Amino acid sequence: MISKSNYEEFYAKYGCYGKKLEKALKLMEDKSVKLHKFSPSKREIWTVVGKEGDQLVDDSQPYCSCKHFYYRVLSGKDDVCYHILALRMAKQMNAYDVIEFQDSEYLSFLEILLEDVVRLSKD
Ligand SMILES: [Zn+2]
Repeated sequence: MISKSNYEEFYAKYGCYGKKLEKALKLMEDKSVKLHKFSPSKREIWTVVGKEGDQLVDDSQPYCSCKHFYYRVLSGKDDVCYHILALRMAKQMNAYDVIEFQDSEYLSFLEILLEDVVRLSKD
């Protein structure tokens, strides 16, 4: 549950992002942030389901597979996209879905995810 004080905190911290913050909050509220956990290796893949489709997101790099990240963030014109913002807030609030997988499913999972990512980058 996201309380009023959480919202106040997020607005204080990320308010400068304006519209991007609104979109990120919406994603978090819709539980669009997913953690895919593979066992026994404990590998983790984070995705955020935006309006264009699944994006592969890694907060530690940071990295996101969306076009905004590629064109605006990597070129230094912006510092995050709304997927990364959503991921950061969802982690803080534990507001994400955890989906468990076996390691044997890892490659086929990646294949499907990357197909989506490639398709989204094309159009
Ligand atoms: Zn993104």
